[in-house]
Amino acid sequence: MESTQVWEDIAMKNTDTCPKCCSNTHVRKKTVLIGRASPKALFLEERAGYKRKDQLAVDECNPEKISDAPLEQFVEGYYCSVCDLGFVSDEIRAK
Ligand SMILES: [Zn+2]
Repeated sequence: MESTQVWEDIAMKNTDTCPKCCSNTHVRKKTVLIGRASPKALFLEERAGYKRKDQLAVDECNPEKISDAPLEQFVEGYYCSVCDLGFVSDEIRAK
């Protein structure tokens, strides 16, 4: 492989691997829209039986890694075209 440098770049970040297919072959950078508030923030507690969309919300992100209002729902993320799945790197998620 001639693209050693590129591979090292990706490997170091280790964030652009699709969580579903575990590959970065079809992953590209994309601004993803996250939820305005998590169910926890909306209802103060997780409701039993509440069907949560598998989506990240603003209050679950590291405030330093996301934009200021009113753009806080748009985060730098990734998109896997095979799985039709958007995701963000772990460093954006609040610990
Ligand atoms: Zn995928």
